[in-house]
Amino acid sequence: MKGKVKKLTNRDKKQLAWRCVHRAIRKGTLVRPVICEDCGEEFPLLGKTKLTAHHYLGYEEIHYLDIQWLCRKCHNRADRLLRDIKFGRVDNREVM
Ligand SMILES: [Zn+2]
Repeated sequence: MKGKVKKLTNRDKKQLAWRCVHRAIRKGTLVRPVICEDCGEEFPLLGKTKLTAHHYLGYEEIHYLDIQWLCRKCHNRADRLLRDIKFGRVDNREVM
């Protein structure tokens, strides 16, 4: 049995999660807001600066739609923080 099921890479999971988010937006079950949930800045829906979905709980199937809407700047920071937590590089003084 071993090796028969293709193991999903992080990249695969990320893509699946994104597909799920986009499908939900198309169906109207998920609405892309215009205000960043972190810095509170407003971004127009059109153009390249629109908010992106941050999967703050990771890319497991049950968390596909557990997202935060963040601007690019906050998204980069959030991803970096998640990586740092994962690899134990978090400096408490920075977090608090
Ligand atoms: Zn922001």
